[in-house]
Amino acid sequence: MAEVPAADVERMEFQLTLRRRGISDQAVLRAMDEVPREYFVAQEFIESAYADQALPIACGQTISQPYVVAYMTEQLEVEPQHRVLEVGTGSGYQAAILSRLAREVVSIERYRTLADAARDRIKTLGYANIAVLTGDGMAGAPELAPFDRIMVTAAAEDVPQPLVSQLVAGGKIVLPLGPHRGPQHIVKLTKQAGGELTRERLVAVRFVPLLPGQAREL
Ligand code: SAH
Repeated sequence: MAEVPAADVERMEFQLTLRRRGISDQAVLRAMDEVPREYFVAQEFIESAYADQALPIACGQTISQPYVVAYMTEQLEVEPQHRVLEVGTGSGYQAAILSRLAREVVSIERYRTLADAARDRIKTLGYANIAVLTGDGMAGAPELAPFDRIMVTAAAEDVPQPLVSQLVAGGKIVLPLGPHRGPQHIVKLTKQAGGELTRERLVAVRFVPLLPGQAREL
């Protein structure tokens, strides 16, 4: 029998781990299979690109654990016609995953260095339906609103109200919510026809903080 290359074995195990942990949406699993995570991690962590762990990126930030990326994506219930806003571009990995499922992704990052690097990776990979902006994602992107779905990938202490107002009726927000150094949970908010939010508390997580304003340092 022909030997399966180590890289393929790693990718197969990556898929298996996601399934074993309960990810069952086929479109999400396909997106996780399609996007090469090794493009998004720092050179020194390339060997760990398909391990189920968060890894450090520039500016003291982290690329989330693949399971958490898949889980939040599944919970967001993205449909092919959707326009999605992501707050916290980081490496651009989550934006890339979302771009395989949605019509269009707008992703905002407060560090220019991270936003520029993410934009370059996304261009190299040819994902044409992602716009990366530098700025304060807590304010959303009013000029590009409304959005069908919003994902925040940094921990918020409170739900940023501008995001709620930039969401369509029936739209959903998935975000880590909780104190910066305390217990955080993934929370799913659904905007009802009348504008009020229903809230569902999901799994416990640990995220870097959502901070106001564009980063002063690069
Ligand atoms: N989604 C990223 C990981 C994000 S880590 C990935 O796939 O790699 C969280 C990111 O949120 C960090 O890069 C941090 O700089 C950014 N961030 C924190 N507060 C922000 C804000 N108010 N607006 C935009 N980005 C913010």
